[in-house]
Amino acid sequence: MQTTTAARDIAAAERIIADERDRFRDRMTTSGRLAETAKAHLAGGVTSSWQISRPHPIWIERGKGSHVWDVDGNEFVDLHGGYGVMLVGHAHPAIVSAVHERVEQGTHFAQPAPDAVVVAERLADRYGLPQWRFGNSGTEATMDAVHLMRAVTGRDVILKFEGAYHGHHDSVQVSSWNEDEDELGPSRRPRSAAASAGIPEAIVELTLVAPFNDLEAVEAIFAARREEIAGVIIEPVLMNCGIVLPEPGFLEGLRTVTERYGSLLAYDEVKTGLTLGPGGATRRFGVTPDIVCLAKALGGGLPIAAIGGTAEVMGAISSGLYEQVGTFNGNPLCMAAAKAVLTEIMVPETYARLFEIEDRMRNGAQRIVDEFELPAYVVTIGAKGCITYSTERVTNYRQFLTIDERFAYAAWLMQLNRGVFLPPWTKGEQWLTSIQHTDEDIDLYLETLEAFGRAFRR
Ligand code: PMP
Repeated sequence: MQTTTAARDIAAAERIIADERDRFRDRMTTSGRLAETAKAHLAGGVTSSWQISRPHPIWIERGKGSHVWDVDGNEFVDLHGGYGVMLVGHAHPAIVSAVHERVEQGTHFAQPAPDAVVVAERLADRYGLPQWRFGNSGTEATMDAVHLMRAVTGRDVILKFEGAYHGHHDSVQVSSWNEDEDELGPSRRPRSAAASAGIPEAIVELTLVAPFNDLEAVEAIFAARREEIAGVIIEPVLMNCGIVLPEPGFLEGLRTVTERYGSLLAYDEVKTGLTLGPGGATRRFGVTPDIVCLAKALGGGLPIAAIGGTAEVMGAISSGLYEQVGTFNGNPLCMAAAKAVLTEIMVPETYARLFEIEDRMRNGAQRIVDEFELPAYVVTIGAKGCITYSTERVTNYRQFLTIDERFAYAAWLMQLNRGVFLPPWTKGEQWLTSIQHTDEDIDLYLETLEAFGRAFRR
């Protein structure tokens, strides 16, 4: 009986995909042409491999508020948000004026800019960690976190969670997207698997992997490797597998285990920082790590990262033990934008609106999922949310792997063809609502989800 239901659902998803792909191509002919010509000199025809989408990438011309326009003139409600960046919405007046003012005074000196002091002060206040440094991408922030954990403890091994993505540097490119169960090893004691070509096995071996939400498994790894482990890097809410929330007690337990073994705890808040609330997951769940990594939403659309830490950890930078460096670190243009985000835009009243939008998205989407008995459930946390196409609640990566990606792909195509832009790799990705989204924007998403439900049950 169950197989019949699943087979019928998959057939429905495939039918929608076939119809919607044709419509996609018809609406996006200029994008289609650009995608072809770009291949001559842009490797793969895009500027980052995750800009690829099927049938072809979509070329965007501009954005304003909660909407974006593609090169074919199609207008979309933007729930992609540039992979979780555009929390403040496009061309927010405070960002435009901060950047405009700054650009006229010169954009780069590689000397500290006074705005950096304000940004660091605000972050210290929000995250409860006293000292900060800056970088340019999430990858750089988590790379510094790993280096710092090793520098401070004098140990080489780190522990990460299966399925978590922390950027594209060697130490964390381990067991992120891998799907082969042989490669991944036993589910409660996963093997470390290189997530990409070009990552040396010798480095992969220094990164241990645990199942998310499994404190016992973490404790067993610590009991076996003890003083070898410099620290744990964790995305406190797993956000490259849809949205997987930490089970009650999991983060507290990690804090205790790391302390017991003299290891450090680093939160990768590249996605969760600012989007879940003013102090990210750190404040929301009430467990303060030794290190916090931020990027994405912090710069209001400019490339920035921040790493914050305890006096002990960041003392390794002050003393010169670890040289945290980068030509563009603390770039004045990015600092001006981050200052506007922290002092003018993402203030307490703004968060009240953000949570209102969350309620509208969650309640509306769940009602439709229930009405059409979609094989799915809705998860939201702050400005982030997704529909996970599984009837069982997903708590770790192995469960996530069992989800058939045709459901999310069919839903993505349908939304896109009706004017709602969600992130391309939707099985693993989430929506981001901005503080400029209107109720009408949300309702267009919900109406389209309803149309998807009807098409699904036709
Ligand atoms: N950490 C997490 C949790 C991420 O989602 C990402 C990017 N998706 C990164 C790190 C890497 O950030 P970036 O792409 O800016 O290097």
